[in-house]
Amino acid sequence: MLKLESVKVAYGAIQAVKGVSLEVRKGEVVTIIGANGAGKSTLLKSICGLEPVSEGRIQFDGKDITQVKAHERVGLGIAMSPEGRGVFADQTVRENLMLGAYSRRKDVAATAAAVEREFKRFPRLRERQDQLSGTLSGGEQQMLAISRALMSEPRLLLLDEPSLGLAPLIIKDIFNAIRQLREAGLTILLVEQMAKQALGVADRAYVLETGRITAEGTGRALLNDPKVKAAYLGTH
Ligand code: ATP
Repeated sequence: MLKLESVKVAYGAIQAVKGVSLEVRKGEVVTIIGANGAGKSTLLKSICGLEPVSEGRIQFDGKDITQVKAHERVGLGIAMSPEGRGVFADQTVRENLMLGAYSRRKDVAATAAAVEREFKRFPRLRERQDQLSGTLSGGEQQMLAISRALMSEPRLLLLDEPSLGLAPLIIKDIFNAIRQLREAGLTILLVEQMAKQALGVADRAYVLETGRITAEGTGRALLNDPKVKAAYLGTH
């Protein structure tokens, strides 16, 4: 479904992504783990069109989308839940969800049905639907960011560090939601520092180190890889 070939992304003289090739097949959950500054967020931004690619190619459904604009990629079926959540703080929960639907120009009934579906997924959002999003807890904001991305009915969901800064119980809820999305057939590319959970939920995974892929395999294989264990799982 998604294929990257030797993708490079630079910020001025800084090469953040140095020639990454990877693939996400339909129905898979693929995880990218990597330390702070490895280039994970930059890579996701290049996939959804928020950072330009200096070299290489991105294909979606066999079509070259390297030069396609970000909003058009949403139309093709790619949505991202950004790191730091990126919810609109001075809009309510419901308003944030409606904004997620906007790019697909849904009719009113279809949008209402999608909001209802997200309230079922995260009942906490229903309880807080009229609350300003900036006053939500970190975990609630993360749920909202995921739901907002899902409002555009993507076929590929990009998740940037959904567990960042959250308490263990909330992280469990977030990963349960990811499992449910996978069971529903959604294709997911997940970027995480929480390597254990992220590899546990992954069909396949890649390790990104200073802009390069240094290992790949099934989630289980990487969980048992001594180098991955030492560097990312805190066990030797
Ligand atoms: P983290 O988990 O800390 O967010 P990451 O793996 O997502 O890290 P990126 O945010 O992609 O890493 O950053 C990769 C590199 O690119 C870092 O060295 C970072 O300082 C640099 N970088 C990121 N965004 C910019 C920017 N807008 N301008 C200049 N340099 C940037």
